[in-house]
Amino acid sequence: MTRRTVLRAVGVPLGVAALVAGVGAAAGLWGADPEPPPAVATVSWEGVLTAPTTAPTPADPTPEAPAPAPEPSAPAFDLTRHSTTDPTSPWVVVNKQHPVPAEHVPPDLVDVAPGVQLRADVAPDLAAMVEAAAPAGARLGVLSGYRSYRDQAATRAAIEARRGFEHAERYSARPGFSEHQTGLAVDLGSGTQPGCDLQSCFAQTAEGAWLAEHAWEFGFVVRYTEANTEVTGYAPEGWHLRWVGRDLAAYLHGAGVGSLEEAFGVPGGPVYAGG
Ligand SMILES: [Zn+2]
Repeated sequence: MTRRTVLRAVGVPLGVAALVAGVGAAAGLWGADPEPPPAVATVSWEGVLTAPTTAPTPADPTPEAPAPAPEPSAPAFDLTRHSTTDPTSPWVVVNKQHPVPAEHVPPDLVDVAPGVQLRADVAPDLAAMVEAAAPAGARLGVLSGYRSYRDQAATRAAIEARRGFEHAERYSARPGFSEHQTGLAVDLGSGTQPGCDLQSCFAQTAEGAWLAEHAWEFGFVVRYTEANTEVTGYAPEGWHLRWVGRDLAAYLHGAGVGSLEEAFGVPGGPVYAGG
């Protein structure tokens, strides 16, 4: 006799029978016993069938199947799932101690705005974030994404020429040391206060404030903050977002981890590898 026929026999509708059987099977109540005992369904005064809450006692004294292993509690977040050194990895850590090979070009760049490219995986999360920010009064513009080694060299040289070496060291990576070369980093602008674009006052704009609170929901981290300057080696940049994917971003947010360096135990800081 099968469970289904037992339940039919007591007049239980088939859909409910399947549910009850599913509950029993999911709980591992019958183990490997080929002839499991019937589930004892109960009917409330309203006539609503409820699944049995205790394991049914086997009618015949067959040897007990080994008890199923207890369900593990919520597993710890696996921080080893992706490489932190492969420049194509979503979790690659690029900083002044960990450069990107000069010849590296991301494999799957797509256009996300006029003249701006990012990795294909980043584009939908960026679009969703820009769309979600608008009703909150944050008008995000997409200023800059992937930069080749050569572009970064030009950007850095321009900043150095305009603001001097010390300023450039704090705000602009030397070529080969920029996250922008991975195609996973994006600089966003303020539609409400464009005068604060790429400036420290960006953090106080509607866009900067919204990003600080919500970027993680879309798989991004504000890479350089007031709190992590020592470990990242960069002054705060509320506009520079790094995509790491929603699962890692949510983990970092929930655990209160302030930088990729701290999350993965990767050295960073203000000193360039090789001096
Ligand atoms: Zn940037």
